[in-house]
Amino acid sequence: LSRLRGRLSRSQGAIGKGVLGLLGGGDLDEDSWEEIEDTLLMADLGTTSTLAVVEKLRTELAANSVRTAADARAIFKRVLVEQLHPELDRSVRALPHNDHPAVILVVGVNGTGKTTTTGKLARVLVADGRRVLLGAADTFRAAAADQLQTWGERVGADIVRGKEQADPASVAFDAVATGIDRGVDVVMVDTAGRLHTKTGLMDELDKVKRVVEKKAKVDEVLLVLDATVGQNGLIQARVFADVVDITGVVLTKLDGTAKGGIVFHVQEELGVPVKLVGLGEGADDLAPFEPEAFVDALL
Ligand code: GDP
Repeated sequence: LSRLRGRLSRSQGAIGKGVLGLLGGGDLDEDSWEEIEDTLLMADLGTTSTLAVVEKLRTELAANSVRTAADARAIFKRVLVEQLHPELDRSVRALPHNDHPAVILVVGVNGTGKTTTTGKLARVLVADGRRVLLGAADTFRAAAADQLQTWGERVGADIVRGKEQADPASVAFDAVATGIDRGVDVVMVDTAGRLHTKTGLMDELDKVKRVVEKKAKVDEVLLVLDATVGQNGLIQARVFADVVDITGVVLTKLDGTAKGGIVFHVQEELGVPVKLVGLGEGADDLAPFEPEAFVDALL
């Protein structure tokens, strides 16, 4: 938790100090409520989550006697945690099936941290004792396969790659077929994410998924989103969510933003749980998303 807090330090000021300062000050007038609303919006919570949180805070504060700053903090914390839907299943389904490995597709716009996330997650799975095979289906960006290979060597996972500009779907297919032959536990496919046109992307991703499904069940489609790009990231996210059924979100670069509130907005907007967060560029900087610890770190 202290590590998370350190990494999220840039987000703490806004939501934590800003709102808590107001809440701790006794009865709130309308101006103060407006200020709270603005602070949450500024932290990227998005309108729906902001209004829900403010509404609930008002109800809870009216119903409970708040005497100390600690009381106010406890209520604020509870409201924020509930807004993150702690009941959602955030496990990454990486258990092999009888006849084939678990398959994880990693999707998202280039530059969001897809390849890095694939490497970091492979490391976690390998440390858990799973045999992991990586598929470098991002054939558009020349360096992507090299970068993934470096990760593979680092964490102890083999890689299947195609020729430059090869059809991403054929590389994905080869990776899964190879994974089945070798009897690995998990195949993770790093896909291309150039958002040139929505139709192009849609066709490509749809094809990758369809082709892979000829061989094995796709267990996870993880959408990688860069927390530092705010609203634009959400527009991109919608495009992906329209193309494939996303099963979870990985929110990267949370260490580099003052707007940790984006987690609320992403979940609200996509209706899909944030499962993992990226807290830095290092191999260990991937953490499971835990609403309670996250809110604690924010406050
Ligand atoms: P891709 O194009 O989506 O595959 O993106 P990359 O994996 O190449 O990552 C793009 C850049 O973001 C690289 O410099 C990564 O080191 C960096 N990056 C990825 N995840 C994180 C993160 O959680 N925090 C920070 N600070 N940087 C990250």
